[in-house]
Formats: sequence, C-alpha cells, structure tokens
Amino acid sequence: MAVLDIREWGKDDVLLKVCKPVKELTPRLKTLIEDMYDTMYDADGVGLAAPQVGVLRRICVIDVGEGPVTLINPEVLETSGEQTGNEGCLSVPGKTGVVTRPNYAKVKALNEDMEEVIVEGEGLMARALLHEIDHLDGHIYTEKVEGQLYDVEDLVEEIDDDDDEE
Ligand SMILES: [Zn+2]
Repeated sequence: MAVLDIREWGKDDVLLKVCKPVKELTPRLKTLIEDMYDTMYDADGVGLAAPQVGVLRRICVIDVGEGPVTLINPEVLETSGEQTGNEGCLSVPGKTGVVTRPNYAKVKALNEDMEEVIVEGEGLMARALLHEIDHLDGHIYTEKVEGQLYDVEDLVEEIDDDDDEE
C-alpha cells in the first residue's frame, strides 16, 4: 500500500512517451497496480495511468463509482456517439477544460489474471476509458481541449456567484 507521486504535465516528459505492453504480470507490476489504486483514491480521481506515476507500461486503473476496473494492454475496439463536457486530469492539477469525446467505448484488455476482458462504458466511463488509454500513448487531454483551460477554483467561484444571484 503506497500513495505514489503523480507526475505533472509540463514538468515531466514521462507523460509524453509511448508505454510498452505488459508481457508478464510480475509481483512488481501487481504491487504497482495496488499502489495506483491507492494513489487514485487518495487524489479523488476516477482514473490513473501508469505513466502518471512514472512507469512506462500499458496499465491503467479506473473507478467512476461503479467499482475498480484494471486495464492491462487495453485496445479500443469501438466507439460511438458524442459527448461534450468538462474534463480534468490528476497530472494537470487544478485545471479543467471542455473536451468532446465519443459517448460510448468498447475496450479489449487483460485483467489482473492476464485474462482477456471486454470493458464497455457510456458517459463518464467512456470518457475515463479513452482519457486513460490516451495516456498510454503519451497524449494528455489538454491537446483536445476546446477553448481554454480553466482554473477549477475560478469555476467554483463562478458557480458560487450564480448562487448568490438567485
Ligand atoms: Zn489524465
């Protein structure tokens, strides 16, 4: 059990590199997965990819409130529809921006027993799947942001202001 340091966009080039596939789930990688969950939950995130903790392996963990999902060597099989909404990333702390992504995604991956699984999701789950898999190819959501990146604090203030007016 360990909370790992989360690498930050703009400060650490590890986030821009392409990760290598996992061939064998060694005890070290199993521990990494446990630590990735600890790190994600500690930071109140809904997903975390291995490069975000400095490991260039194709592993990500997701929990959008429907339970933990571990994806090893994930591949997107299918996407459909469209959703536009705010997105954030633990590697881009305090920021948010509007990103349009498919509303549905179907992914093939290996689970923690190295068995092939199919994971599907709509809405937030589809967004999380595609965001995390992007990380494995060195892509950060900021590349896809429409308009500008906002400070989360400013948005919260705006919402507070709106409340005052009502
Ligand atoms: Zn991210």
